[in-house]
Amino acid sequence: MADVCKNLIGGKWRGSSDKKTIESVNPADTGDIVGAVPASTKKDVDAAVDAARKAYKSWRLTPAPKRGEIIFKAAELIAKNKDSLGRLVTREMGKILKEGLGDVQEAIDMAYYMAGEGRRLSGETVPSELPDKDCKSVRVPIGVFSLITPWNFPVAIPAWKIFPALICGNTVVFKPSSYTAVCAARFVEIIVSAGVPDGVINLVHGTGDEVGEYLALHPGTDGVSFTGSSAVGEKLAKMCGALDKEISCEMGGKNPIIVMDDCDLLLALEGALWGAFGTTGQRCTAASRLIVHEKVYEEFLDMLASSAKKLKVGPGLKKETDIGPVINQSQMEKILSYIEIGKKEGARLVCGGKRLSGGEYEKGFFIEPTIFADVRPEMRIAKEEIFGPVLAVIKAKDLNDAIAMANSTDYGLSSSIYTRDVNNAAVSERDIESGIIYINAPTIGAEIQLPFGGTKRSGLGRREAGGRGGALDMFSKWKVIYRDFSGRLQKAQLKEE
Ligand code: NAD
Repeated sequence: MADVCKNLIGGKWRGSSDKKTIESVNPADTGDIVGAVPASTKKDVDAAVDAARKAYKSWRLTPAPKRGEIIFKAAELIAKNKDSLGRLVTREMGKILKEGLGDVQEAIDMAYYMAGEGRRLSGETVPSELPDKDCKSVRVPIGVFSLITPWNFPVAIPAWKIFPALICGNTVVFKPSSYTAVCAARFVEIIVSAGVPDGVINLVHGTGDEVGEYLALHPGTDGVSFTGSSAVGEKLAKMCGALDKEISCEMGGKNPIIVMDDCDLLLALEGALWGAFGTTGQRCTAASRLIVHEKVYEEFLDMLASSAKKLKVGPGLKKETDIGPVINQSQMEKILSYIEIGKKEGARLVCGGKRLSGGEYEKGFFIEPTIFADVRPEMRIAKEEIFGPVLAVIKAKDLNDAIAMANSTDYGLSSSIYTRDVNNAAVSERDIESGIIYINAPTIGAEIQLPFGGTKRSGLGRREAGGRGGALDMFSKWKVIYRDFSGRLQKAQLKEE
């Protein structure tokens, strides 16, 4: 059954002001229309920003523990709806059900974590240079935030933004990807039913060009938290910078796994398979490059190719499926074009490489797990983000060579090394240029209580998730307070004595 979803503006669910809608389809079966959402207009965005501004006046003054109680309730409601929401994630985004449920679990974890932060939004009290005077710093909210999210984690990523923004006392206008807009609508519906006051969360659907950009640059907003491609994030960061608007961007990746000759090859095999092909390679942290020590290169490649061939591609709701479809026609075409580029560049195709068709594949966007061997670091398939089930395998002479290759892209989000040698691990921790590094684990699997984000073209501004050093810093700023209770002007304060 197709869902008819609306925008949420100032606590009221409304259609687009010009009545147009955008359809969202199941990528495993395009005959299955998941729902329709408003194709919003600038007028709708203006109304949502206005509602968020009004609500900010009282939300910022609501005690943080009280805000936390509402978020705690939201966590419980999301947990109660986990199964249906997880199924909706799979139906609308395509990832297998286990991953759909995991997407929702991230949101539950983040909500509980941020609810607790309501009682921990601490600043610092430090001694003053002068008698009868005290000094402290406190966290204050930034104001109205635009939250712009991609389709690959349709519940988790909005949760990573909404809950920290709210606990810090901001109000938000949330614009999700149109490809997973029904998940967003259902998620917001659940959150507001926890008792979030009207206007604190506003939801505006629509395309990036028309609604996203207008929202991000809107004079009524104070900050932007964006997750998506590097091209869009960098463009927004430039424009917002010129407007003196706070902006943080989590963007693309080209994440490497290094496999050393001393490692447990079976462990590395499992990590490489799920790092590369989990979520059909559509994670910002997916492993898209495998850098293998020359001594184990051919052996590991054989193990990898024979395991990848056994992965079952199919609709995410089917129990036996390992890998679901890719999100849409244009993403499928982009991935297939990169496969052609890889062949032309002279990389050796060792498995996959084709779109699957016929039978249950006929109406979906299915691509075989694809592995290219003998890839060189300068090839486009080794440098550019493909965002699909395509893995580039590169041979390395030694650890230094492997690290140099790991660092040879414009991205720096996640990375991993498989080794039993503690020195190899330590050097990698120090020298690989990425925001996140895993030792003896794949490039995926971030935990919400730590800051998340990348360097180079993978991240700009503050880090997401985590508390201090992460999301709390993204969504609050410091105010410093000096209080003099001496009852006189202390001239030393003016540094005149
Ligand atoms: P995208 O950049 O096309 O879109 C992301 C969001 O931005 C969508 O809501 C879209 O409508 C909106 N948008 C598009 N153009 C816009 C514009 N000009 N102004 C304002 N908003 C605009 O990305 P996508 O295809 O939805 O997602 C895939 C990308 O996201 C990949 O590059 C992936 O690596 C990245 N990603 C990064 C992280 C991370 O945390 N680093 C997490 C998930 C996905």
